Amino acid sequence: MRAAVYEQFQDRPEIRTVPDPLPTPDGVVLEVGATGVCRSDWHGWMGHDPDIRLPHVPGHEIAGTVVAVGADVRRWRPGDRVTLPFVAGCGRCPECQAGHQQVCEQQFQPGFTHWGSFAQFVGIHYAEQNLVRLPDSLDFVTAASLGCRFATSFRAVAQQGRVRGGEWLAVHGCGGVGLSAVMIGRALGARVVAVDIDDAKLARARELGAEVTVNSRHVPDTVQAVRDLTGGGAHVSLDALGHPQTAFNSVANLRRRGRHVQVGLLLGDQSRPALPMDAVIARELELYGSHGMAAHTYPEMLGMIESGLLNPAALIGERLSLEGGIEALVTMDRFAGTGVNVIDRF
Ligand SMILES: [Zn+2]
Ligand SMILES: [Zn+2]
Repeated sequence: MRAAVYEQFQDRPEIRTVPDPLPTPDGVVLEVGATGVCRSDWHGWMGHDPDIRLPHVPGHEIAGTVVAVGADVRRWRPGDRVTLPFVAGCGRCPECQAGHQQVCEQQFQPGFTHWGSFAQFVGIHYAEQNLVRLPDSLDFVTAASLGCRFATSFRAVAQQGRVRGGEWLAVHGCGGVGLSAVMIGRALGARVVAVDIDDAKLARARELGAEVTVNSRHVPDTVQAVRDLTGGGAHVSLDALGHPQTAFNSVANLRRRGRHVQVGLLLGDQSRPALPMDAVIARELELYGSHGMAAHTYPEMLGMIESGLLNPAALIGERLSLEGGIEALVTMDRFAGTGVNVIDRF
């Protein structure tokens, strides 16, 4: 098969012909229909992920067709159209047994713990519990674009934040995760206030359902601006960017008994931000993380897509060849577009 392979971190991946994967007894092989290009792939290529062993093939936002099935797999057959979460749970550890595969103790992550989907084929372990059947109406590019950003955002807003109709949802950072959260919050009946430093991204947030927006560069106090606009503070607030300042603002702008969800990654020297824990106590705030979404909870999200309540296709950026995907990967720190770029030709 053709695959994008890198031998060393930060060396440009090359397209090579490598042996086709074979299914493990608990796994399947997918013919990749489409795969998203994500900042996590860039972090991996830069050498920031200790799970990666060289040489390596990136890619974890996958949609495709089952072409081979391991001996122990019962639920899946060649020809099935599927996607899967970027964290696939082992099915045996206590977290998986409790239904929390997104925090499995022995997780399989294509494109990190194993070769990923910047290739014609990809092997998937733990297939029985982690594949998700795609509705016929959902094309591969849109399914791949759900990737980690849209699905993680869905979990953050609907499952961890538990936002309800009529509540105020504040979204800090209007990149791929934040714009997804705006769309999802609106679809669940929330009133959304979007926060960013870029007027173009805030305009996009309004198109996707934000009722009001705050440009942090244009107000003296972002927290006070959100509190004023929401009549006393947000019920649910997301740090969708992953930065000490947005994390602080997201906690500080909550009303009493509000819920903060940390979705944006806090890495390196930003991993331990100062938070207003005095307010967490005095206002009984709740703090959550969101780390992907378990496969068994996908039907709720897919149902909202099928019914038209959610339209993730609106967030798709460019459709790329495998060569174009390599270029998008290695230049990601220089050209951060707003849409989700997807490879659909291998
Ligand atoms: Zn597990
Ligand atoms: Zn991703």
